[in-house]
Parts: sequence; C-alpha cells; structure tokens
Amino acid sequence: MQHPTSPAPAPEPRTAPTWRCTGCDTYVANTAWVCTTCGVDRQGNDTYDYATDPRSEHPVRVVWRDDEITDAVRADSPTEALEAARANWPGATVALVEQTLDRSTDGG
Ligand SMILES: [Zn+2]
Repeated sequence: MQHPTSPAPAPEPRTAPTWRCTGCDTYVANTAWVCTTCGVDRQGNDTYDYATDPRSEHPVRVVWRDDEITDAVRADSPTEALEAARANWPGATVALVEQTLDRSTDGG
C-alpha cells in the first residue's frame, strides 16, 4: 500500500474576514451570521431552509379581513400543509388552492 501525496491544504482567504460554511463550503463574510447560500450558521447549525425541504409543495390561499395572499407550504399532505399554514398565519383564514398539476413524472 502506498500513501498518495497528501493534497495541499486549501489556502486561507486573505481578503475580507470570512468564515467557511460547513453546509456548502463557501466563504461567508463575517458580517453575516448565517450563510446566505444554504442557511447554515457560523456554528454549523442547520436552520430550516424552505428551498431544500424535500416535501411536496401545496399552494394555499391566506385571507385576512383586508388582504389576501397565495403562498405555498411544504408538507407531507394537503392536510398538514393546511395545518402548517394556520400556524404560520394565525388569525387568517387559510384554504388549499386547488391546482391541476400536469407534470410528467420524472422520478425526481
Ligand atoms: Zn452555506
């Protein structure tokens, strides 16, 4: 058995003070506590990131007395999406938006 030549360590950045994100291996300015790329903070804690939530997205309509929005909630089921929406927007009336998704399944 031969040990391959160990690779040179990555050079430390010498420009602006940065910290290296353990989540996505990018350098983040010290002024930012949380990595803007993946949402992992300086201590390596993984905060919730909607973009990487693997659950399917359920469109919901959120209605207040004088305003309404349509947003999407990731959840395992439409029922859970509705519950999550109610928790997200207390006091609002939330309803699932019926959508006909005509996408071909591609095994994603
Ligand atoms: Zn990151």
